[in-house]
Amino acid sequence: MITIEKQEEFLKKLIGYRRELHKHPELSMKEYETTKRIKRWLYENDIKVLDFPIEVGVVAEIEGEHEGKTVAIRADIDALPIEEKTELPFSSVNKGIMHACGHDFHTAAILGTAIILSKRKAEIYGRVRIIFQPGEETGKGSQYIIEEGVLRDVDCIFGMHNKPDLPVGTIGIRSGELMASVDRFEIKVIGSGGHAGIPNKCIDPIVVASQIVASMQTVVSRSISPIESVVISITRFNSGTTWNVISDSAEMEGTVRTFNNNIREEIRNLMERTAKGIARALGGKIEFKWFSYSPVLENDVRFKDLCIEAAEDNGYKYVEAKRNLGGEDFSFYQTVVPSFFVWMGVDGTEEWHKANYNLKEDALMVAANYFSDLALKVLSKK
Ligand SMILES: [Zn+2]
Ligand SMILES: [Zn+2]
Repeated sequence: MITIEKQEEFLKKLIGYRRELHKHPELSMKEYETTKRIKRWLYENDIKVLDFPIEVGVVAEIEGEHEGKTVAIRADIDALPIEEKTELPFSSVNKGIMHACGHDFHTAAILGTAIILSKRKAEIYGRVRIIFQPGEETGKGSQYIIEEGVLRDVDCIFGMHNKPDLPVGTIGIRSGELMASVDRFEIKVIGSGGHAGIPNKCIDPIVVASQIVASMQTVVSRSISPIESVVISITRFNSGTTWNVISDSAEMEGTVRTFNNNIREEIRNLMERTAKGIARALGGKIEFKWFSYSPVLENDVRFKDLCIEAAEDNGYKYVEAKRNLGGEDFSFYQTVVPSFFVWMGVDGTEEWHKANYNLKEDALMVAANYFSDLALKVLSKK
């Protein structure tokens, strides 16, 4: 940990980075200017950038003075298609795009971690790879990083998400599942349209689709073990063009979340079977499409004590983290290397993805200190 006076100065620098990122947000996999900014700041701080064939995102590395393992720390860098309403002096200048999930915070804080570690090479047994990952919000960025070989010689990886309901200086830690798996589905009901006054000559897709919506809730309550947490949400329902014509088809779309990877396939099959059965009974047909997104984010129990120590040794508070049914593409890394993901308290103004989202910038220092200490602990001599 650096001294108090130096911390204040350092925090100002990190706030500067965060505000510049916040002002210039970019959408997933289009983070070209953000990539340039991060590279520039790394060069200014004498930190090595590794040469991977990635167009967006940056991989940096701090090589220790002693032999040892490779630990990776990941920050995501993308923003969302939301029109900012905070009226902060450093509000987004990119219309309709906003850092409403706090990835500007993650990037600036982990840049801070890299700077601290670059000054402590004598204590590092091995190396720390810093991954500034693009495209988290669309769930594709971590796979892009994995496919480009960035994790090939990495022994373990750590990450965080800012957490608005935890105060600054508090870190939420939990082994096992922390965030849900994310899958998307589309159901098209094909009926047979006609005159609204003569429904007996039609197969009304809205009636069929409505029964499917109601039955999806029964899939959870009657067909999946009550011990499991499962959410099926139908978030889009479209059919028809006017008041006196029964339409030909209806379309629905939604998402399934669970904390158990093993039941994702079972839910998919149950949903498809239920939708098909209802359509068949009413004379209609179904097209069912399933898109798998990220698996359950599940922390490796072996790192829990170390993650708690890194909090407590620096005077921060550890709380047992609560699970969240949001998704996080960090979970793809967990399919490749052992890992741990924590909640970083930021005392946010409201929930993520809101047009007024803001957080307390003091947390930048906490996160920068926390991850540098955690990396040193993992790479200590013992
Ligand atoms: Zn988000
Ligand atoms: Zn996020």
